[in-house]
Amino acid sequence: MAQEGFDCVVVGSGPGGYVAAIRAAQLGMRTAVVERDRIGGRCLNYACIPAKAVLRSADVLGEVREAGEFGIRVGEPTVDYAAVVARRQKVISTLTGGVAGLLKKNGVTVIEGEGALAGAGTVRVGERELAARAIVLATGSVRRPIPGATFGGRVIGTEEAWALEELPGSMAVIGAGASGAEIASAYARLGVRVTLLEALDRVLPTEDADISRLAERGLKRQGIEIHTGASVSGIEPREDGVQLGFGERTVQAEWLVIAAGRGADVQALGLEAAGVELDAGGLIRVDGRMRTSVEGVWAIGDLVAGPALAHKASDEGVIAVEDAAGLQTHPLEHADIPRATFCTPNVASFGLTEAQAREQGHDVVVGKVPYGAVGAGTVYGDRTGLVKIVGERRYGELLGGHVIGAKATELIQELVNARALEGGYPEVARQIHGHPTLSEAVMEAARAADGWLIHG
Ligand code: NAD
Repeated sequence: MAQEGFDCVVVGSGPGGYVAAIRAAQLGMRTAVVERDRIGGRCLNYACIPAKAVLRSADVLGEVREAGEFGIRVGEPTVDYAAVVARRQKVISTLTGGVAGLLKKNGVTVIEGEGALAGAGTVRVGERELAARAIVLATGSVRRPIPGATFGGRVIGTEEAWALEELPGSMAVIGAGASGAEIASAYARLGVRVTLLEALDRVLPTEDADISRLAERGLKRQGIEIHTGASVSGIEPREDGVQLGFGERTVQAEWLVIAAGRGADVQALGLEAAGVELDAGGLIRVDGRMRTSVEGVWAIGDLVAGPALAHKASDEGVIAVEDAAGLQTHPLEHADIPRATFCTPNVASFGLTEAQAREQGHDVVVGKVPYGAVGAGTVYGDRTGLVKIVGERRYGELLGGHVIGAKATELIQELVNARALEGGYPEVARQIHGHPTLSEAVMEAARAADGWLIHG
């Protein structure tokens, strides 16, 4: 079989893979990206992007409902879900079309099919053999069932939840992590009766406890029935729905969405035959430059350790191909990766929670400021948001940042950047912030940590 020669072959065109491919092409490598489904991967086609499109429709509905408070009288809004779906699909096609255009512009060859490692420096795609001195695995992750439940019929994963063509009357969601919180928050506001079940004792259990408490309050305000500490037993499929039990209770819903975490999509890659080592959790073992145990093979994104986030995958893609090109690339600290959950209220964070910082023995200082403390919170209509900074007293280090409320997912970046530039909370406290902006709440939280909160 004739081999087609490349410098770099990337398997998977999600936010990890397509960014890696473009960066490789920028560095002068002849690059191909292999995709068995759709350009843009799951993030653009089935997960992050459709999710945010539907959430945005729910946000607009919420704003219209609150318009009276701002002196704008409108009739009772109704949801035209077919139009929500049409916009969702348009957003997807605009963005995936954009990625396809970028790949083309950068001279990246797109190869349709399923890629697998096939001997040193070779990827097989059906009948084709691609030779490359750098192979980047970027196939992402797949839904994971929970004990006692299998997918099928009315039991669906998060991707199917974001692809619903009709708005159901009711929905049960298992797992109140980022996925479950976003699904519950979008559909509840669009009028679906939502029950959200979480095994641990709070929603968004990996977030700071103060944030989980406020998130739960906000989600309940949208009419979501929340049960934490819920261990689900007996899932019974019905013709037009599902019945599930937890503790003494049962819930019936038209759809059951399992949003209980994901697993690396490694099945088709031929890792074992190629000698690529996995860790105990089934993820591909890599070093700080994303090199696997096999020379010439890198792995990134949900295939490797760390939070399963699109922006983390993209960064790792850059690291992998810069390393492959022989450049000195930058290190990646998992603690510095921003986390953003687009439910209402918006939640965003990075680094350590207060509890984690205390457990690790830091001399912890906390600055907490509600949005209501700054003018913008009142002007724009969100006084209940909160910025919480977790710092180390001695050198003013930013150990963690936590924001809940309007635009939290944008506001967190300031703290991430400050830390990356080796700034601490005393520096953020003395940085001039525009007025009236919500970012002043970030500055005030830094001042609170530094002991001189002005508006509090
Ligand atoms: P997750 O691991 O973040 O959350 C799953 C939740 O399900 C956990 O809270 C867990 O305690 C709960 N759970 C597990 N088994 C359960 C059971 N049997 N009964 C009840 N609860 C149970 O997983 P996810 O929310 O599916 O997200 C997967 C990955 O994708 C994560 O890394 C997440 O950060 C990422 N993600 C990010 C975003 C975003 O950035 N906006 C959105 C969605 C997903």
